[in-house]
Amino acid sequence: SLHNTIQDMKGNIRVFCRVRPPIDNEEIEKQQCSIFFPSETTLEIRKSRESVSVTGGKNMDLKQEFNFDKVFPPEANQTEVFEELSQLVQSALDGYHVCVFAYGQTGSGKTYTMQGSAHDHGMIPRTIDLIFDKIDKLAIGDWTYTVMASFLEIYNENVKDLLSPNSTHNYELRYNEGRGVTVTNLQIVHIASAAELKTLMEEAHKNRAVAATDFNEHSSRSHAVTKIHLEGYHKNSKTKYAGSVNLVDLAGSESAKTSAAERLNETKSINKSLSTLGSVMLALHNKDSHVPYRNSKLTFLLQSCLGGNSKTLMFVNISPFEECFYESINSLRFAAKVK
Ligand code: ADP
Ligand code: MG
Repeated sequence: SLHNTIQDMKGNIRVFCRVRPPIDNEEIEKQQCSIFFPSETTLEIRKSRESVSVTGGKNMDLKQEFNFDKVFPPEANQTEVFEELSQLVQSALDGYHVCVFAYGQTGSGKTYTMQGSAHDHGMIPRTIDLIFDKIDKLAIGDWTYTVMASFLEIYNENVKDLLSPNSTHNYELRYNEGRGVTVTNLQIVHIASAAELKTLMEEAHKNRAVAATDFNEHSSRSHAVTKIHLEGYHKNSKTKYAGSVNLVDLAGSESAKTSAAERLNETKSINKSLSTLGSVMLALHNKDSHVPYRNSKLTFLLQSCLGGNSKTLMFVNISPFEECFYESINSLRFAAKVK
């Protein structure tokens, strides 16, 4: 339909909210924020939208309700969350550019959602498994797929290759008429199996810490982008498809505290990338004629994966504690705005 065509042209954005559980005794003893999931009680509402209601503030006098495409309470496991992503993996094999973001303050569960833990895999390793499962099945039906991957980090508006963390190369973003945005010197690796891709993923994840004096500080201020290129070719019809899955663990969304002078520049860049991402998504949502992709490295890099022939999913990750109330409200407002 025409409506769908316009949707496809201007991008297709869905937003999921995920609230994490307290994870140890210290956290269980913390003052918990009052978070309520009204949609759990009303099946009617659950069908069309899901909401989350947060109460807090000085005298518990602030109450706000937000609607998202899906809301995951703390007890939701990775398998449930991934179920919602499997359709997107199919879309990428069908030639779409798929973007999955994790947005939220530091400690809210972004890396857990994307990467997961050794015994509870997150969205990235599950996506890898599903891609190769599907490719193996499609190969029986005369489709062959080429899989390539790259791993990069944007820190302080500088791009770094997570597969060569000590490289002194310049990584510049270039716009190319045929190929879209490319990154000079970035390694793009041909991948033959899920196991091979997961090994690289782990290497990239470990390299995020290289050269960082404080890993937590560094990872909370950088954006990590995992890109999986998928090229499908049908032997008989000679049909070709080129899609991709881009999985982005964003920098922490916490507002800049009165930071040390040397931090100031960094904080500005991060806020620039995050706020530009918000502006881009809002412009796509509003179907504006101008989308400010070029205002930050992150949005320039992902230009062809946001809008155009693309599908976007944003997780807004929330910490369940009273002390996180204002940051949670900020994150929820940001996410509700771009939806
Ligand atoms: P972020 O990347 O947003 O800074 P993390 O993903 O590192 O946050 O999460 C903070 C802590 O909470 C980590 O120890 C992580 O393993 C844990 N955690 C986050 N989400 C969940 C969840 N849904 N279930 C269990 N533990 C979680
Ligand atoms: Mg993290």
